[in-house]
Amino acid sequence: MNLKTFRADLHVHSCLSPCGEFEMTPVGIVAFALEIGLDIIAVCDHNSAANVPGIRKAALGTGLVVIAGMEVATAEEAHILALFDDIQAALALQKIVYDNLLPGENDDDLFGMQIVANELDEVEKIEQRLLIGSTMMDVDTVVREIHALGGLAIASHIDRQSNSLIGQLGMISDDLPLDAVEVSYSGDVDAMQVYPGVSRLPIIRSSDAHQLDALGRAITKFRLAEPTVVELRKALQATDGREISGWSVAS
Ligand SMILES: [Zn+2]
Ligand SMILES: [Zn+2]
Repeated sequence: MNLKTFRADLHVHSCLSPCGEFEMTPVGIVAFALEIGLDIIAVCDHNSAANVPGIRKAALGTGLVVIAGMEVATAEEAHILALFDDIQAALALQKIVYDNLLPGENDDDLFGMQIVANELDEVEKIEQRLLIGSTMMDVDTVVREIHALGGLAIASHIDRQSNSLIGQLGMISDDLPLDAVEVSYSGDVDAMQVYPGVSRLPIIRSSDAHQLDALGRAITKFRLAEPTVVELRKALQATDGREISGWSVAS
């Protein structure tokens, strides 16, 4: 099997995230990702996958692979990335997450508008659910639901004080079957090793971009046979020659 190196930014927000800029549209994200030489992006909006279909369609035929993702906020207020090959699996997780969101409506003025767009950047819907809030599912439940749907579960930006497993709990339980942890572009990978449960897990770097010029500021390079979540899982487990071959982080 021929392995190739793929440059992946596995944590990208769109204009659906209330904190995401309007410029994070399907056409805008795909064009910028291609311009900076990315092979794979994962669209991970807060508690929703509603912009994955539009961004995937916008990338059709361009060579850019769009992984169906979501950044789920657990009851502990920790963020967990969910990555899927199958868009239906991401939408199935979205249903579970919507059923478990804390009640409330988004405040456009306070948090920002939540725009669902199609592949032509046409507005399809303004989402009113309170996506910026947490779900009522604890981290074990979230990871279990992601795995039950065939996805990868990665703890977001563990170096951050807010909305991270380490920031909220100070450790990662040995019983929590995460597939990896993410250290942000500004984080210190070595400094994270002192926290219980981190050293057993593979580390990825990604941008957590909420605006275009942040896209790709941290990426992970993977050696894969093809750009799929199935192959990413092998790389995270370092099996069949698949591996993380490095990170690239803007200074
Ligand atoms: Zn986050
Ligand atoms: Zn994020």
